[in-house]
Amino acid sequence: MKPFQQLREHLIDLFFPPRCVGCTRAGFAFCPTCAQAVDPVAEPICAHCGHPQSAPTDLCSTCRSGERDSLALVRAATLYTDPLRPAIRALKYSGQPELAPLLARYLIAVAQQPPWLEILAHIDGVIPVPLHAQRLAERGFNQSALLAGPFAERMGLPLTENWLHRERQTRSQVGLNGAERRQNVAGAFRADPLVAGKRLLLIDDVFTTGTTLTECAQALRMAGCAAVYGLALATPAPLPVSALALSPGDSAERDFGDA
Ligand SMILES: [Zn+2]
Ligand SMILES: [Zn+2]
Repeated sequence: MKPFQQLREHLIDLFFPPRCVGCTRAGFAFCPTCAQAVDPVAEPICAHCGHPQSAPTDLCSTCRSGERDSLALVRAATLYTDPLRPAIRALKYSGQPELAPLLARYLIAVAQQPPWLEILAHIDGVIPVPLHAQRLAERGFNQSALLAGPFAERMGLPLTENWLHRERQTRSQVGLNGAERRQNVAGAFRADPLVAGKRLLLIDDVFTTGTTLTECAQALRMAGCAAVYGLALATPAPLPVSALALSPGDSAERDFGDA
């Protein structure tokens, strides 16, 4: 950052101190108390996609169906609950990209635990889930790339953003059910031939039904990629059994966005 820019930001902070997106406390974008209160993903989880489960199980129903076979393993770092939820929404929709390095810390923390240390030792590149060029121009940044940057740097891995492109503009996944989400992103991604034989790690912000990560992995695998792993910042908390009985399907996940 240039000295003038730094001075300008310092003066803005002095007169308009940032407010924590979780609790509105002045002086922080995301205060230490809220950072501590973020929910980790706890067992039981699906052994393949890491989705929290209401009861112990080996694989969730989606992974059992083979739908996510293009992905070697997926994990989410945290639960998509408060105070993380407003932080992710602020990062994506309110133009607060300064939150990204603070949130990337959760990805870094997970990556230092098994089985990630062993997996990351053989990863050739870190790829943030890409946005279409038009949406990137509208938003000004790709939130997954903002998370993947500090993560890759801290883990000493190359950031290989140009190895995957979103060829087709897809509508937001918010409000779509599982089948609609699959249809929405089908064939939307194109991988660079450079990925052939490589082992790659995809980074996403929220892992909901996993359709976006799966489509990315399929495009990479079709281009000859040896293995694709996924790491997301957050995933929805499991629904209580009573809620499952009331709302069949994944309609309760419709609040969660994508891209
Ligand atoms: Zn706070
Ligand atoms: Zn699963």
